Amino acid sequence: MTKFTEYFLMNSEDAKKYAFEKTDIFTNLDNLKCEEIGDGNLNYVFKIQDIHTGHSIILKQASTIARISDEIKLSTNRIRIESDILSLYGKFTPEHAPHVFSYDPIMNCFLMEDLSDHAILRSSLNEFQTYPNLADHLSTFITNVLLPTTDFIMDHQEKKNEIKRFINPDLCDISEELVFTEPYTNHNNRNLLFEPHKEWLQSTISDDLKLHFEAAKLKWKFMNNPEALIHGDLHTGSIFVTKDSTKVIDPEFAFYGPIGYDIGNVIANMLFAHVRAYVYKQSDYLKWSEKTIVQFVDLTFSKMESFLNSQNTHSFFSSNSFISDFLTNVKKDTAGMASLEMIRRTIGLAQVIDITSIEDDNLRMFAEKVIILTAKHYMLNPSSLLTGQDYMNILNEKL
Ligand code: ADP
Ligand code: MG
Ligand code: MG
Ligand code: MG
Repeated sequence: MTKFTEYFLMNSEDAKKYAFEKTDIFTNLDNLKCEEIGDGNLNYVFKIQDIHTGHSIILKQASTIARISDEIKLSTNRIRIESDILSLYGKFTPEHAPHVFSYDPIMNCFLMEDLSDHAILRSSLNEFQTYPNLADHLSTFITNVLLPTTDFIMDHQEKKNEIKRFINPDLCDISEELVFTEPYTNHNNRNLLFEPHKEWLQSTISDDLKLHFEAAKLKWKFMNNPEALIHGDLHTGSIFVTKDSTKVIDPEFAFYGPIGYDIGNVIANMLFAHVRAYVYKQSDYLKWSEKTIVQFVDLTFSKMESFLNSQNTHSFFSSNSFISDFLTNVKKDTAGMASLEMIRRTIGLAQVIDITSIEDDNLRMFAEKVIILTAKHYMLNPSSLLTGQDYMNILNEKL
């Protein structure tokens, strides 16, 4: 038997042995098959399955360097954070996260429930699939996992210890660079501007100093505002769905940050799929998508308000006026953060397949222009985005 007593990067054979040794769901090693199914930039994901019983499990392992580039060195602490956060989700909202079986600090991996019966939301939206409960589920997820970690609910000293436990400098640095800085300054020379309208993108984003100012304020907020334990990477590639189930994965970017960052990420990524569907004239999808984005925004804020009014919040923060002021600030952050995500996914290093897969150059340019102009409006007028319909009205003006 392999001894998993010293860290090494596993291959499929190792992962099989590991799952066999560390769980009691498999009875015969020879009946196991294993496939590496990771598609992300950083980690390795193995699916191990018994070919007779069908039982299966997922192993996710972090390496000390990113899988996309051996120049990116990252602390493996991120996998501890991820498995701890998924376990917290299991406590706060078990229906919206995979079950975690075990975490291994030596091998820098954890074992979790296999969600292969679900699909990655981004892929499904790009095939114009619709999900009737998505807005309801995601707004519940955000309310139930973020608010209990705020100073409304938590013991204030315990919260400070939690901030320490989830300090995540390497992964925060990736976001601070890719989301908040590079799209505006290109100081690492990594931006990817679609060639046919490079000049337009350059003058619309990179040369707009008002936008830089807003982005700098939002970056400051991201860095200096430990409001709640946020997911930190809540795009549609981190969400698994079936027609009646929604599960969030991949919280390795989690840290104590501004709530609006998570809400804004969901909005932005839903908008990418919406614009794609517009380009491909998918009217049924568009109706569903508009309704879902509107509901997602409105339900998130109404559920947060009810949660704060119904829970035993610390009395100094429990007045209606304080809660209302808090939510107004989160709404404003949400608009700014949605905008940053829209801009960075259009001109930054990490782009989205929703847009890059549009083959016709003119249609892709149209999609990017709509996204950029909408994002600019959000960034420059964040206080005017109070409802889901406000988000859609600005987008529809540009379409
Ligand atoms: P990364 O951090 O590298 O982005 P993810 O956690 O996003 O890794 O996982 C990468 C891919 O692995 C997902 O897109 C999905 O296809 C697959 N995957 C991850 N977790 C599970 C799971 N619990 N069940 C089934 N497939 C999974
Ligand atoms: Mg991922
Ligand atoms: Mg992925
Ligand atoms: Mg990840």
